[in-house]
Amino acid sequence: MAEPIDPTPQSVASPDSVPVEPPAPEFEPSTPVQYLPGVGAARAERLRRLGLRRAQDVLFFFPREHQFPPPPTRVDDLREGCPATFIGKITDAELVSRTPGKSLFAAIVENDSGAVRIVFFNQPFRAEQLIFDRIVRLSGSPKLAGLRWEFTHPKYELIEADEADAESPENKGEILPVYPLTECVKEYELRRLTRRVASVLAGGVKEVMPPSIRADASVRLREAGIELVGDLPGISTTLRDIHGPPSAEALTAARTRLIFQELFVMQLALAMRRTSLTGRLQAPAMPCTAKIRQRILRRFPFELTADQNRVIDEITREMGRQFPMNRLLQGDVGSGKTVVAIFAMMLAVASGHQATLMAPTEVLARQHYQTLSKILADSRVRIGLLCGSLTAAQRRETLEQIASGELDLIIGTQALVYDIDFHSLGLCVIDEQHKFGVRQRVRLREGGVDPHYLVMSATPIPRSVAMTQFGDVDLSTLREKPAGRGEVHTYLAVDSWRDRWWDFVRQRIAEGRQAYVVAPRVGNESVPRDPSTESPDDLDELTLLDEVEDVTSVSRTFENLRDNVLKEHRVELLHGRMKPEAKQDVMQRFADGEIDVLVSTTVIEVGVDVANATVMTILGGNRFGLAQLHQLRGRISRGVHAGYLCVFTDGEGSPEDSERLKVFEQTSDGFELAEADFRLRGPGDMLGRKQSGLAPLRIADLNRDIEILQVARTMAQELIDEDPGMQAEELAGLRDQVLRRYGDRLDLGDGA
Ligand code: ADP
Ligand code: MG
Repeated sequence: MAEPIDPTPQSVASPDSVPVEPPAPEFEPSTPVQYLPGVGAARAERLRRLGLRRAQDVLFFFPREHQFPPPPTRVDDLREGCPATFIGKITDAELVSRTPGKSLFAAIVENDSGAVRIVFFNQPFRAEQLIFDRIVRLSGSPKLAGLRWEFTHPKYELIEADEADAESPENKGEILPVYPLTECVKEYELRRLTRRVASVLAGGVKEVMPPSIRADASVRLREAGIELVGDLPGISTTLRDIHGPPSAEALTAARTRLIFQELFVMQLALAMRRTSLTGRLQAPAMPCTAKIRQRILRRFPFELTADQNRVIDEITREMGRQFPMNRLLQGDVGSGKTVVAIFAMMLAVASGHQATLMAPTEVLARQHYQTLSKILADSRVRIGLLCGSLTAAQRRETLEQIASGELDLIIGTQALVYDIDFHSLGLCVIDEQHKFGVRQRVRLREGGVDPHYLVMSATPIPRSVAMTQFGDVDLSTLREKPAGRGEVHTYLAVDSWRDRWWDFVRQRIAEGRQAYVVAPRVGNESVPRDPSTESPDDLDELTLLDEVEDVTSVSRTFENLRDNVLKEHRVELLHGRMKPEAKQDVMQRFADGEIDVLVSTTVIEVGVDVANATVMTILGGNRFGLAQLHQLRGRISRGVHAGYLCVFTDGEGSPEDSERLKVFEQTSDGFELAEADFRLRGPGDMLGRKQSGLAPLRIADLNRDIEILQVARTMAQELIDEDPGMQAEELAGLRDQVLRRYGDRLDLGDGA
């Protein structure tokens, strides 16, 4: 029997009722949460842990998601075997038998529609939770036992009387917001509060997005495939609907508006910064004539790929202007980025300026130094190397030569180059920058102009990151690889393969190839540290060392391979704690083919280029990130021979580890891997607040909301192109938001 509908006359205003003054609002935006209805001191303390201090914080505390729960069923509407939710009070509870293996707990749950029975077999602990007089929400499929409906082993949740009320949103089949919570705040409490606050305050919130912008955005969002009925709603409706959506459509509209607004504000900030920088900075113009181009190209021992030529065009066009280039060159491992960088550096030198190339490690810096020395062997270009292993005297001399302009090209590790005085720096190339931090700038002389910047990364950044973190960076991409590259076969190994795999490695060595074996970290033997030679990578290695216990020790691995598994071959060890000369010596002998097997930590991760090395074994593969694995694999795809990579894992990997490794096995496309990495790790890592300089997002998700982000970016750039300072009257509110959220972070201050 259905409950008779009870019309609630007081909720319907009669048309002839006399209009009365609206009552003074019981609270205002600035009211401390403690004084909001139903909160009090204790709850206020818990709300503060969520960052909610004042009523307005509650208003803008957005739900993480929404649920669409079915309303609870009344006893008369229960059906045999049909899933149902039932809410009621426990009016009887009994542990019928305690005999282990035969215990039975039964309880009666009752509400105004009748009573049901719940039973649990062999779960005596239920008696401690399902206590007389508690209110519980059950769900399960009931069956008729005699005259009574019975739920066996239902799911249940103990709730408060308030939530059990038939009139509460939870029980009327309404769409329910789900908030990010701390342990001590109950979801339904927060729902009550946000609704209440929204109903009182939402109407008074000032609209910052003019209707014209909302209308324009709505059209473009629909074109981008967003399901949106009508225009983006105004802010008051939006705030009411996000906390208590009257329909799925209204909810979508409200969410879309908030997401769009958040991303729009961010993109406006980035667009403003781009524009203001354009007016402020100056760099030396270094135009590339056909003659210079010919002269540079003659020096390469091979033809450049079409992709390399295209990217060189993009770069030289910008270097020819007086505004500093700020460009990220992304290209998969082995795509030939270095060549592009060398071209740009030679252009700078040809124009009478200095250029610098910074590498993350000394091994890589030395390799670049050698490459460049070879290419420029019979030229007048003077190259200097600046790295930790120079003596104090050598270093002083090099620094003087840099300052006086005697050196044209300076290769070095990042830690060192950032700190020096250049005579006339025209171009700064940063190699293998695959951490997405805000890049440091080189030191400028007083009154000096900015150099052009070219940052290279083998870890392609996902589209969403490119549009946010790199909002003021231009992108160049190398997709094509130089012809004749061997393919790499990747295997995820199980332990029982070990013997067969080492057999395989021995065969390849017998054919004349060389092999890498990569193990996670140096063991715990006490090698003294030499801080002067620690490059950033090495530091990582050292600081992590103490945290990671029980790692596959590279030293033990080395000894075992040298003395047993591969004892007939020349095996050597390389790790970040070795003295620079020793490292360099090992690398050189490996490059010269005097070493068959290089056992190493990830110091070989970046850039190292030995074409004859085609076999790699990675131990403890679960300890590496996707980008790192991809970098490592890149070491064996440099020559004409096919590469073989076998990844072993240690211990029990987590499901995330194996997901990551599976992706790694299946694709060798750096772009796909980057997207997968972003998906698996979430944007947190890459867009850490500190690193990115961007405000944390409250409701938008860069991964999920990429289409909205794209629309926001386009519209923001158009708006700023037209009105760089956002001076139009109707933009005042939006401009405020941009400056409040991003002014300090992006240094928009006066320029904006
Ligand atoms: P990455 O993009 O990983 O830095 P590199 O610039 O180190 O790649 O290039 C990888 C290898 O390919 C190097 O040995 C380089 O000499 C070679 N290479 C680069 N461009 C070409 C080309 N156009 N033709 C043939 N070999 C090339
Ligand atoms: Mg490189």
